[in-house]
Amino acid sequence: MSTAESRRAKMVADHLRRRDIHDPRVLAAFATVPRERFVPDALADRAYDDAPLPIGEGQTISQPYVVAITAQALGLTGHERVLEIGTGSGYAAAILGMLAAEVFTIERIESLAQRAAETLAALGIENVHVHHADGTLGWPDEAPYDAIAVAAGAPAPPPALLAQLRLGGRLVIPTGPADAQRLVRITRRSETDYGEEDLGDVRFVPLLGEQGWPVPTPR
Ligand code: SAH
Repeated sequence: MSTAESRRAKMVADHLRRRDIHDPRVLAAFATVPRERFVPDALADRAYDDAPLPIGEGQTISQPYVVAITAQALGLTGHERVLEIGTGSGYAAAILGMLAAEVFTIERIESLAQRAAETLAALGIENVHVHHADGTLGWPDEAPYDAIAVAAGAPAPPPALLAQLRLGGRLVIPTGPADAQRLVRITRRSETDYGEEDLGDVRFVPLLGEQGWPVPTPR
């Protein structure tokens, strides 16, 4: 077993399986995707810590456990079309790409979108499509989606994302004030009825955009 492979196996055992991650496909995805390729070279040593890490532009790659909770809550079987908001490094998108048929991921910071697209291409991942845009508006061109994952904290679920969810589809999103968010799973039960379940307390960088937090004006 290569070193990276054994470090991944240890991360899966210690940080995911030992907690409440039990979906075998989710565990297999985490045992396969090389997280060290999605973090800056200087942090490669820490790639398998269960922690967020800086990826530039003031943003972070999410903690593996939080990506796992999100992925597991989406209930993917391999046939779904998935939308992800907040590509960041592209790591979570790569995980989702292993669990679903097609992933469309949106990032508002162009340099991050570009780097993530390059990393995914270098790994030969072809079912993940990166776009540079304001993800609070979703990506209507490819809607509806079976599942939507939001990787940044929103004041409330953006109406555009609720509208782009297929009937029966799931949206996992951190919502609430910047310092105390809850991760919630919203299921679209009918044209107008959405159910909501609490998945626990989390802390994400803010979702900035038209249907998120206001974008700070540069000084
Ligand atoms: N899933 C990522 C974690 C990204 S952190 C990973 O695995 O690395 C959240 C990301 O959301 C940041 O890169 C931030 O720039 C982005 N973001 C914030 N608001 C956004 C918006 N309105 N649309 C798209 N991306 C957004």
